[in-house]
This record gives sequence, C-alpha cells and structure tokens, in this order.
Amino acid sequence: MELTGLQIFKYLPAAKKEESTNCKKCGCPTCMAFALKLAKKQIEIEKCPCVPEELKEKFAESSKIQQHEIKLSDSLVTGGETVMFRHDKTFVNRTVIAVHLDSEDKEFDIKLEKIKNYKTERIGECFKPDAVYLTGTNQKTAQNKIKNAGISVIPDSDLYTIVSADSISELEKNAKKLLEQGKTDIILELEYGHKSVAQIAEELTYIRRAAILNRYEPLTYPVMVKLPQTLDKLQACAAASVLICRYANIIVLNDFDEALLSTLFTLRQSIYTNPQKPLQVEPKIYEFNDPDRNAPVFLTTNFALTYFAVAGELESLQCGSYLVVTPSDGMSVLTAWSADKFTADLVAKSVRDYELAKKVDNRSIIIPGLLSHMKDELQEAMPEWDIVVGTIEACQIPEFIKSKEGVFS
Ligand code: SF4
Repeated sequence: MELTGLQIFKYLPAAKKEESTNCKKCGCPTCMAFALKLAKKQIEIEKCPCVPEELKEKFAESSKIQQHEIKLSDSLVTGGETVMFRHDKTFVNRTVIAVHLDSEDKEFDIKLEKIKNYKTERIGECFKPDAVYLTGTNQKTAQNKIKNAGISVIPDSDLYTIVSADSISELEKNAKKLLEQGKTDIILELEYGHKSVAQIAEELTYIRRAAILNRYEPLTYPVMVKLPQTLDKLQACAAASVLICRYANIIVLNDFDEALLSTLFTLRQSIYTNPQKPLQVEPKIYEFNDPDRNAPVFLTTNFALTYFAVAGELESLQCGSYLVVTPSDGMSVLTAWSADKFTADLVAKSVRDYELAKKVDNRSIIIPGLLSHMKDELQEAMPEWDIVVGTIEACQIPEFIKSKEGVFS
C-alpha cells in the first residue's frame, strides 16, 4: 500500500517532538509539508537528513511498481494497474482485445481487411480490435501487412518477451529467469489449456493480488490469455467477459467475430471508465435531422449514456427535433434530480442561456417521463413554455411522437 502523508509524518521529528522539528533543511516549511509532498512523490526522501531507516525501508517497499506498463506498439500499452477494484480509483489501460491470424491462412488478406474495416461506436467512442495475434511461419510479410493496416501486432520481440506457462508457479519461475537475465519488458502468458474459466479467473486474480497488494516482482507484469479453440461462440463470449472483469490485460480471440467484439467492447467500456468521472456530453441544444421551427423539443441531462440513448432515437425519427441537454455533472435524470442538479430553476436557466425561444416557434418542452413529478414546478419556473411529460424509456420516443402527430412538424 502507498504510504499516506500522515503515516510518513509519524516518523519525522515534528511528530516525535525532536530537536530538528521543522528545521526546513528539506526546503519545506514544516515536517508535515514534507510528509505530504513525499506521499505524492513530489520530493525525494533524501532531502530530509532525519528520516529514520525504518521509514526509508517502508517507503522503498511502497514505491515498488505494482504492475509494469508494457508498450505493445507506438500506440498501444498494457498493464500499469494500481488497484484491485475499479471503484478504489480507476483501472488504467483497457484490456487489449486481439484477434488471432495465421500468416499461412489462405484467407489471410481477406481476414485482415475485415479486421481493419471493422469499427463500432458506443457513447461517442469508436472501438476497433486493438491488435492481431500473429502465428505461422510467414511472419515478416504478414507483420508488415498488419502494421500497414494500422493495427498492432503481438508478439513483437523488439518490444517485449512473452513467457508462458500453464501454472502460476511455472510462470513465476520463468519470469524470475528473465529478470535474472536483466529483462524487464515481460508479458506473462497464462495458458488456458483444459482449465475452466473459473479456474483461469482464480489464477488471474492470484497474479493480480500478488502484483497490486504484494508487489511481488515476478508477477508484476501484464498477463495475456489466449482463448482455446475448443470454445464455441457463446462460451468464448462468456469466457472473454469473465477475463475482462478478472484480470486479463490481453485477451486473444480465435477468430474475427463482429458480434463478439461488439459485446466485449461494450463490457470493457463500462469497466474501464473512471468511476469518479461520469461520462458526460457538452450541455447545449443538439439538433437532429435538420429541425424546423416547429420541431419537438426534448430535454434531458448531460449523462452520456442517457444522451446517446435519446439521441439514437431522435436520429431515427422521420421528423427533425431538438434536444436540450442541461449541465448536471454527468448524472442521469433521477440521480441529478435527487442531487439538486436538475431543479426547475436550473432547467429554466439553461433554456434561457441557450436561447431556445429564438430557435423555435413551438412552445412545448418534452421532459423525461421519470421526472413527471416535476411538471408543475417546471411549469411555474417557465410559464412561457408548455411542459409535456414524455416517455420513461428512450425507445418509446418514436411511439410517443407518432401519438402527437399534427402537434409537431
Ligand atoms: Fe522536517 Fe526533515 Fe524537513 Fe527538517 S528536513 S523540516 S526535519 S522533514
């Protein structure tokens, strides 16, 4: 565990009421200031001549890397994790999802083209397969083709060494050998073999705990798992999903499969967002399908998931529409309402600030159905607008608009 400022302070002269208390030799005004800086690694421990050996040892231990970050290509890194659970802080580098290709495969070029052209979008982010895991003998030409397609190739012996084993003890032994040879760019490959996904997840958890909690050097490297050929599509999806959650840094899929990739990207995006920073979009008025002055006006918060769910439905409508997105710190409508981030006054202010009245002749604002209890309050705060309660689910919007035929353009 990282040492906190307070834990460090306990070892310093000020805490022990010694003579050199707050002597400023370290360049800080007090021992507490030094402790706080040291905890954030903004000052070297050697700056204070009074640091006891015990603190030096504890600090050295707490400063050891928990998981090394390994460069897989100029644009792709893996590892570098610092916590066991995303809610403790955040996970750092998304699980790399690689697709296996054999350089001897007669359909190599066709398959590579498919991988290259595939992309999917979710909540404003675009996802593509991160890498190709290349096997076969015709490596050089195939590698060049993959790199020219803008995709990273695994393995790349110029950048790192992969050690593989089917048990943790073997993996540990092999990693130790590499460390003794002075190698530090290592990927640990845990062989799946005939194990169940539960066993693999258990082993990955053991390795991650050894790295994050115990900083046990041989296991402080990113871990790769290749899915076995024996898994059918559904099993592969279940296994890869478990491995994204617990704790594979790199997953190699046997084949290119759009549905599988899309599912895994969705799961991975949820796990690798920073829980302290909700995904949000810019608060403003969004326009869909070239709306005219009588187009319906919807209202929601700037929580990205809500925005994209509503935006998707509005895009699919035959008519144009507006979406007023209020600044709600990225909270969903009910959360924002309960946290006072979606009050009648704030909504009225947004509508005024965005000058909605100048954009439309229509004077109706459709609010989320989940906030129907706010109708009267909103009506009072915006007497010049007619507040209409909309749908609870975004997917009900087309039906809702149909029911209002003739009201809007
Ligand atoms: Fe305190 Fe050491 Fe800094 Fe002096 S040099 S103020 S004892 S931390």
